[in-house]
Amino acid sequence: MVPIDFSGKVAAVFGVANHRSLAWGIAQSLARAGARLALSYQGERLRDNVERLAAEAPGSVVFPCDVTDDAQIDAAIAGIERDCTRLDLVVHSVAFARKEDLEGRFLDTSREGWRTALEISSYSLVRLCGAAAPLMEKGGGGAVVTLTYMASQRVVPNYNVMGSAKAALEHAVRQLAYELGPHGIRINAISAGPVSTLSARGISGISDMLAHHREKAPLKRSTTLEDVGGAALFLLSDLAAGVTGDTLYVDSGYSIMGV
Ligand code: NAP
Repeated sequence: MVPIDFSGKVAAVFGVANHRSLAWGIAQSLARAGARLALSYQGERLRDNVERLAAEAPGSVVFPCDVTDDAQIDAAIAGIERDCTRLDLVVHSVAFARKEDLEGRFLDTSREGWRTALEISSYSLVRLCGAAAPLMEKGGGGAVVTLTYMASQRVVPNYNVMGSAKAALEHAVRQLAYELGPHGIRINAISAGPVSTLSARGISGISDMLAHHREKAPLKRSTTLEDVGGAALFLLSDLAAGVTGDTLYVDSGYSIMGV
């Protein structure tokens, strides 16, 4: 097997809230493969958490980044260039919708609820890639991974506007792959099965979803941080050198089932 060695590479990871975050699962895999981590936190509230996690991966740096603020995105990339001199890998693991838009009727989604969910969960990928690409290209290119969910393609009650956001995100992955490919940058999405994280617990009925998934999925178990971390490592590495614009399902096989 070709070993994955990210020694000398810098990985920016957006979306670590705590040790349960999918972003943290990916960050741990990247650190084990030798990458230096640059971890973002959104607001002072999460700074301590992220700094504590960063201490587990020596050499890591942390920086603030609320993806609704263009100035913070640009400052984050400038800070990575200043402190780490290069950027090779980007992990986008950010999503948000208002609580009231993750329950009840999709028909009742407000204009503001739609704007918030799609701005934070979909547009942020486009803006981050735009800011990061020049620095990645300077170092010879790189790879990006984002996190999506099957509700982009099928109806998942209560997921509502976040399904629309994930559909937009998956489209953006294809469009960005087309535009970034000539610059030596690949981008792919991981469609993860449900995992009990801070964000997932905001979705009404998540416990039932987790149990249903375990029962129906061919592997008869829940998706884990290790599953997602391993798939991200593959997609970000040269083992996936010919893969871009794709969505890889990491869901114990749940999505292949008809009933
Ligand atoms: P998580 O730990 O809560 O991570 C979500 C992250 O998004 C948090 O760090 C959150 O920060 C951040 N975020 C929200 N608004 C932001 C903003 N304006 N600027 C910067 N960061 C912001 O939950 P997760 O489950 O790991 O979610 C990560 C990704 O995986 C999301 O895209 C999610 O849709 C996707 N996903 C999750 C599952 C699942 O079942 N867990 C399945 C498939 C896909 P705050 O905590 O400060 O808001």
